[in-house]
Order: sequence, then structure tokens, then C-alpha cells
Amino acid sequence: MTQAPALHTARLGSDRAAPRVSVDRLLHPRSVAVFGASDSVDKFGGRIMHFLVRHGFAGTIYPINPRRSAVVGHVAYPSIGDLPAPPDVAILAVPADTLVQSVTEAAAAGVGCCVIISTGFAEAGAEGMARQAALVEVSRATGMRLIGPNCMGLVVPHHRLALCSSVVLDTDRLRDGPLGLVSQSGALMVSVFDRAATDGIGFRHCVSVGNQVDVEICDVLEYLVDDAGTEAICVYVEGLLDGPRFRRAAAMARKAGKPLLVVKTGRTQAGAVSARSHTASLAGSFEVFAAVCREEGAVIAHDPDDMVRAAHFLVRHRRPRRGGVAILSTSGGGAGIACDRVSELGLSQAVLSAETRAALGELLLPPQADNPVDLGGRRAPENVEISGEIARLLFDDSNVAYGLAILTSMPFFAKRSRLIAESAQAIDKPVMIVFTPGAAADAPREALREIGQFFFDRTEDALRVLALMAEHDAHSAAARPLAARPAGLPEAAPEGSGVLSAEEATRWLQAYGIPVARDATAATPEAAAEAAARLGFPVVLKAISRDIVHKSDLGAVQLGLASPTEVVEAACEMAARLARSTPLARLDGFVVQETVRGEAEVIVGARRDPQFGPVVLVGLGGIAVEILKDIALAPAPVTLERARLMLDALAGAPLFRGARGRPPLDVEAIADVVSRLSWLAVDLGPRLVDFEVNPLIVRPQGEGAIAVDSRATLTETFHKEPHP
Ligand code: ADP
Ligand code: MG
Repeated sequence: MTQAPALHTARLGSDRAAPRVSVDRLLHPRSVAVFGASDSVDKFGGRIMHFLVRHGFAGTIYPINPRRSAVVGHVAYPSIGDLPAPPDVAILAVPADTLVQSVTEAAAAGVGCCVIISTGFAEAGAEGMARQAALVEVSRATGMRLIGPNCMGLVVPHHRLALCSSVVLDTDRLRDGPLGLVSQSGALMVSVFDRAATDGIGFRHCVSVGNQVDVEICDVLEYLVDDAGTEAICVYVEGLLDGPRFRRAAAMARKAGKPLLVVKTGRTQAGAVSARSHTASLAGSFEVFAAVCREEGAVIAHDPDDMVRAAHFLVRHRRPRRGGVAILSTSGGGAGIACDRVSELGLSQAVLSAETRAALGELLLPPQADNPVDLGGRRAPENVEISGEIARLLFDDSNVAYGLAILTSMPFFAKRSRLIAESAQAIDKPVMIVFTPGAAADAPREALREIGQFFFDRTEDALRVLALMAEHDAHSAAARPLAARPAGLPEAAPEGSGVLSAEEATRWLQAYGIPVARDATAATPEAAAEAAARLGFPVVLKAISRDIVHKSDLGAVQLGLASPTEVVEAACEMAARLARSTPLARLDGFVVQETVRGEAEVIVGARRDPQFGPVVLVGLGGIAVEILKDIALAPAPVTLERARLMLDALAGAPLFRGARGRPPLDVEAIADVVSRLSWLAVDLGPRLVDFEVNPLIVRPQGEGAIAVDSRATLTETFHKEPHP
């Protein structure tokens, strides 16, 4: 992890002078100055010079070196101030201790943007932090833009520009393509670039932003969304500086029809937050980021290569896809493994039309003439040519969205593989071709490279990419109704701050139209018994104490009390038990509740994420919620429709539909609570910390759902109670 909160402390504010150049200009400079320019490829400044020249940068190159008159065939200048004209961009890979001086000179000379490769800034302790602050100050005062520090620069193949010191650029050509990449990590950017090039996949822009003191991920992301030549965007992010801006950019990418794929680190830090509510521990920062991405149609990958490959297929095959996966294999084993994994990944296997099956039946033996197709079962085994025809028939079926060809070694391997790939290309559908053998598949691999067909070496690699594409396609197909405020909600959330009492929280839920259990509070065991008689037996008794978070852990919930005597006894025992187990907890009385009978318990929680604002979650609830961790999360507010989809996404969703002889449950009632709580979360604005119903007891369809326990924490900043 290179990301630390400290990285964000020295950064340009809004009081900067007007930026000298646009992002477009700094990605397509007309002239470039190289600090520390050298002829030696063993030096940073030497490699940068060589790559600029070797890859044919068409603009002006100004090497800066006081001891040389020329570097790599270009006139050298003793200092940046000596150039005939200020360059659009200067690149600096000089030691950190002289860097600030160089950047100051660059600003004075009128340079548009400094790309700072050097490390030793905010990522390197207090001294580095001070240096970073100095850089920021130069840029703030002058409007000179900065990329980095602690980055790897940029590669813009269509501009023949490699402004980067990485040895991976020591190649004959920079592979151009329709993909854009913005990466917080420089090393990752260049390795992704290189791997993609090896795979035959090219980029239009690759930009690493490092510590993001000025140009940040979203500056580049917004540019890529706008750039006509960029067809899909890949992002590697450790920490976002501006969550809402990222969200807007993602929405713009979706609107522009550009797939956006993201790899985000820091997943494991999620949940490392206050455990005062389940919602807080279940809706950690990564989960919220993922929910925002889902909402805006961006796809999260776990591996950068998967991200790039999925982007490649998505731009290559732009026709909207509907349907399942068709599997073609040259072995029953390959087909079997693929079938199992496809369904385990939640992808559907395509159901072929009768016509396709009939046509396949002409070429294949009957058991093979259906999805999955086993090429081994041909009617005329000597006929190699029909491999392409079989692939065409299978993949062209209108129920097929994705193809998966698992190719084990076979006679005429290269020829057949090529025929299959050509069919896939001709019908314009993404077909993931996997070669399972090692060296035996070298000739077929070469055959596919010749026709520009990407292939995989492992079935699992192909499946992950397929799953990413399917996720993208599902996002694109989903309608996104705006969350209209349901009728009958209060104009604004009630006044109040701090940790609400259970009673207050319940009243607020009621105000938002969420059904709650009938209840009454009581100061003494006897009063509890009287309240119980009014509610009707059996009742539930709970202790009231602001010092207790999870009541049942401490024996502060007693169910099934059937008479006044049982209530008095239970209350006395509860008080005694609490006095023993948690002597410091203050008992503020009791609440008596009607017994709610239902079929399932769910949690519905809301919380304010520091980065993205209010979010709402729903999951299988009750006291096992953190063990089950079966939750769905979305940015608030949510429509009923979105709430239904959230419920569908739960692993426990079959329970709602009525599993094992149980009745179907009132899913609409749950969705309604999710939507209403999401609006409460929105209305609470910055006051919200978290607000949680757990459980909401769900009854059979048509009978509703009722909240029996809730808790809420708001910030203390509003309406502070006066001190006595
Ligand atoms: P806590 O979450 O603080 O432990 P709850 O009030 O949620 O306490 O009660 C714990 C469990 O007791 C609930 O998950 C539910 O199973 C059951 N329960 C609580 N109140 C009721 C009620 N009014 N009717 C039926 N069951 C209840
Ligand atoms: Mg509870």
C-alpha cells in the first residue's frame, strides 16, 4: 500500500492561479523539456530522452544539461531558463532534494506542466511532506500544472509520446488502441501497458498520477470520457480524492457509452470502523465504493489484466448483448469444467434455438449437437473445415451473448483454431478462446496472433473476463429510474443529535412511514406489567440503557412473556443481571413490545460514508447479521425498484420467495422500508452517522414487515445540549 491519508494533505486548493495548460495539452504537448537529460540509458533522464526519440515524438525536444551541448542528437540547454520558448511539458526525474529548485525554475520559465517522476515526497515522511508542500506552493502561485510526484509519467501512443523512464518502453513501437488508462501507481501502469501490448491490446493514453498533488485521477478520467478516440476506460485507484466527482465522471462515461472498469485497492481496510452499529461494520469504504460503481455502471475488477482484457472485448464487440454463454470444446472434459464454472459464476448457459440445434445436428453426432458443443463428436472426423462452420452456427444463435472455446490439443490444431476464431470475428460476438495445452498450442497461438485474435491460456482467466463483461452488459441494460421522493414523507428529518434513544429512533421511523411494533415504556417492573396487559400477551421485554449496544448479548431482551407475573419477574431478573454483568451501565427503565411473529428477520441500515455520502443497506438480519454478511448496499436515496434489486442480489433471496414449504414473504414491504430509510438518510444530511433497523420482522406476502429494534447515531455538532 502506497496510499496513506497523508498523501492528500499537500495538494492544490481552489485558490490556485489559472492552470497554464489543459489536460488535453499536457497529454499532447508540442514541446517537451527533459531535466537531467543524458545519453546513458542507465540514467532516468537518458532513458526518457531515448524513448522520446525512438518512438518518434514529433514535437520539439529540449534536453536540459549544463555539461553537454547535445544529448541523443538534440541541442542541450544549460537550464530551463535558456530555452528559446517555454515547453508545454517538462519531465523531471532528478533527486528529490534538488527537485523543488528545478520545479521553481520551470515555473519561472513558463513551463505548462511538470511531470515529476522523482520519489521522496508525501510518501516519505515529514521531510518529503514539506517538499511536496513546496511543490504545491509553486504550482498554486503560478498556475503551472503538476503530474506526480512519485509517478511514472505518461504514454500516449497515438501522439508517439513516451514521457516515461520505464524500461518496458524499450520496444520497437508503442501499441496504439482505443483504451485509456489512468493509474495512481506508475509501476502498475507500465506493467499493464506492457502486458497488454504482449496480448495485442493497445492504449490511446496511459497516465500515472502518483501523489496527485495537482492532476488527479478524475482530471484524466473526465478527459478520457470526453476524448472521442477513447472507447473504454481503465482505472487503477488506491485512494480517491473526490468521491462525488468520480461518481459524476462514471455517470458521464456511461452516458457516453464508454465501458469503465476499475481496480481498487484497500478492500481489506473496509469495515475497520466503529462497531457501534452493524451497518458501520458492514458498509466499509470499499463496499460503498463498489456500490457507487454498480450504481453508475462501472465494473470493478480484481486484477488489472482482467480489467484490460474485458475492456478490449467490450470495445471490440459493441453490439448490445443479451443471452447466455455458449461453450465449444474439443474435449468433454474441457466442456464439463467450463459448464460447471459458468453456472458457479452465476452466468447462464445459452439455450439454443431448435434451428441451431437442427443445423448442428447435420454436422455433429446427436449428443454433441447442443450447448455445450463437443467438437470431438463430428459425423465426418476427417473434415477439418467444419470446425469454423460449427463455431459459426453455435455462436451466431440469437440466444448466445458470449462464446467460450476451450481448445485442447487436436489434429490440425492451428488450422481449426484459426477457423473458429475467424467465425467468432465474423459474427461480432465476444468469444473467449482458451488454449489449454502448453507448447503443443504454440502454433495455434501464433495463428490467432496473426489475425489479431486475443486468446487465454487458462479457462479461469477467460471466465473472469467473461464475468466482467456480463456485469457490464447487465449494468448497461438496467433501467435507472430517478429516485422520486415517495409521497407522504415529512418535509424534513426531525431535530436531534447524538445517540438517539430507542424510543426516539422508533418515533423517527414512524414519521417516515416505517411500521414499528406497538410498544410502551415503563420505569419499573410493575409499570411494565401494566403496560403489557394493555398491549396484550405475550410480550417482549427489553431493558432501556444508552450504555448497551447489543441488548441480547447481555440478556436485556426477554421474549414470550405471557402474564403480568412473568413480566415483573423477568424485569427484576434483567435488572439484577445487568447490574452484575455491566455495573457501569445505567438502566433507564424498560420497553414492553407486542410480539411480532414473522418468517424472517432482515437488517435495513443507513450510514453516511465520508467519501460518497448516504448509503443504505439491506441484508439477512437478526443477531447473526455480521456472521452471515449477506448484504446489499446502494447509495441513497433508492427507488422501490432498486430496493427490490438489492433484495434479489442477496444470497438468501430464495428465502423471500418461499423456500422449503414456507410462504413467500412480503418483499414489497421490505423494499418500501429500504426506500423510506434511504430518504431519512438523505434528509439527515451531514447529521447522519448511522441509522439502523435490526431486525425488521418480515411476514408472509401481503402482511407487511415490522421494525422491532432500531438504533441511530447522529453527529453531536447540531443542537448541542446545554451543560448544566
Ligand atoms: P438487540 O439487537 O439489541 O440484541 P433486539 O431488540 O433486536 O435486541 O432483539 C433481539 C432479537 O429478539 C431480535 O433479533 C428478534 O429475534 C427478537 N425480538 C426482539 N423484539 C421482538 C418482538 N417485538 N417480537 C418478536 N421478536 C422480537
Ligand atoms: Mg437488534
